[in-house]
Amino acid sequence: MEQKTTQVLLIEDNPGDADLVRLRLIESKSPVSVNCVSRLSEGLAALTRETPSVVLLDLNLPDSHGAETFRRVMEHAPNVPVVVLSGQDDEALAIKAVHQGVQDYLIKGNISSKHLERSIRYAVERQALLRALEMTQKQQLDFKNQFLSHVSHELRTPLTCIHQYVTLLLDGLAGPVAPDQADHLKTVLKSVNQLHAMIRDLLEATRAESGKMRIEPRCIALGELIQQTVAMMRPMADEKKVGLEIGVDQRLPLVHADPDRVLEVLINLVDNGIKFTPADGAVLVQACVVEADPSSVYISVTDTGCGISPESKALIFERLYQDVNAVDNNRSGLGLGLFICREIVRLHEGRIWVSGEPGQGSTFTFTLPAYSLAKLLAPVVTKNDHLRTSFVLVRVELTPLFVPPRGNWKETWRQGLEILRRCVYLDKDLVLPPMVTAGGAGTFFVVCSTDMTQSGIMTARIREQLERVAELKAKYSLTIMAAPIEFSSATSGQTLEQQVQALASHVTGMITSSMDRKQLRPEKPIQNSN
Ligand code: ADP
Repeated sequence: MEQKTTQVLLIEDNPGDADLVRLRLIESKSPVSVNCVSRLSEGLAALTRETPSVVLLDLNLPDSHGAETFRRVMEHAPNVPVVVLSGQDDEALAIKAVHQGVQDYLIKGNISSKHLERSIRYAVERQALLRALEMTQKQQLDFKNQFLSHVSHELRTPLTCIHQYVTLLLDGLAGPVAPDQADHLKTVLKSVNQLHAMIRDLLEATRAESGKMRIEPRCIALGELIQQTVAMMRPMADEKKVGLEIGVDQRLPLVHADPDRVLEVLINLVDNGIKFTPADGAVLVQACVVEADPSSVYISVTDTGCGISPESKALIFERLYQDVNAVDNNRSGLGLGLFICREIVRLHEGRIWVSGEPGQGSTFTFTLPAYSLAKLLAPVVTKNDHLRTSFVLVRVELTPLFVPPRGNWKETWRQGLEILRRCVYLDKDLVLPPMVTAGGAGTFFVVCSTDMTQSGIMTARIREQLERVAELKAKYSLTIMAAPIEFSSATSGQTLEQQVQALASHVTGMITSSMDRKQLRPEKPIQNSN
């Protein structure tokens, strides 16, 4: 059988050493082809173009030294086995290299052709085994996630049925229910709701673990979201005789976040706060800005409950973690709530942490990015470190033909937003977070890095696409307007960041004056019906 040729990339700057290695390779019995380069940068470029069977690597090159050399090669081509050929017999470095994934560490002066051939063969075999193992692990993880997701979905159907029938009985629709029977039914309903919550957590955690959790950030007023959370959790707090208070900084900026997801985090934290706090205790939800970090908003949920041990603090956000000492008589969770919170906050590029001592209550704090038009605009209005030259502001207004708006207007909005995003060039146009005005009318703004002629082509496309949606056409009237953003970018002495900031202020000015300020407000968080 014909033997496969081993493709060797030799990164070696010393011509004598390179010739010696080449000679040893040619002396070996198996077919081999060698590509030799003398600098790390050339080696990395070669690895971009092709995938050799193995890299033979000298550590001291003109453009890199020591451990940094193998680190960079492995970072660049994690699937290619690396064998170090070193001039120094440095045991500590050799161990470090092997710990970090180098397959072998050979001393140049001591290599025989047999030795080198065997080292390369083993390196290739081991790397292939490692890859196969990783693939199997990934497949197992995918299988587990698919299985969990499937089972959770299937469990929901009979649960929904139980829920409906118990509610029907409780409402007396199947005949009168005696008070003690009603109590039993309420217990069943409570357990069904707990099971529903557990299944929802399982689905969410599986989604997060397989990277399928998505967020849809908008420009939102956090104060309203906190009030909504507290209103939803008030019955649970009252039942347990736990106080529930709000402390929101009046000057709180808008945040750029997914309202449904943030609501999920808030509910989880407040639910835990109430759960782990005894009667007559209190839970306080606060939001503020910290002077040292003005680009974030800090949201915290503080309780006067059992607190958290130092050991638990390190593990509390891990999947399935439950503190055996924490008092939750109902055992109503799966230990997934905080894991889901962490994943949601991470998707918003925020942080979440816990503070407090055992027996002294705890405070869970998370951050969300403050809404900054300049930050959103920066990637689309600049090119090669310069501000682009012409900009247009497009305004798309959907006014409901019926008051109150008919149908699922939240879904209609999502559809509208999606269509707009499909019609623009994402690298140079920005669809701003939607604004909702009183009466359910909605206005979308798009900042386009283009001139009026080009924007005309875009607005025609937007109109055509929106009018194609029968649901929108039947229930909304559509107005599209465009105006040049007359902004001089030639202001001398300004950094690029300052220019983008000035453009953002100008756009904000145009938006606010184009709308009736009294009516304008950021989108109100929508209460989930399920
Ligand atoms: P669960 O849904 O089971 O409560 P979480 O992920 O929300 O899971 O919480 C994990 C664990 O963290 C809980 O079981 C509890 O031990 C601890 N914990 C969470 N919140 C609090 C809190 N406010 N006070 C004390 N312990 C808490």
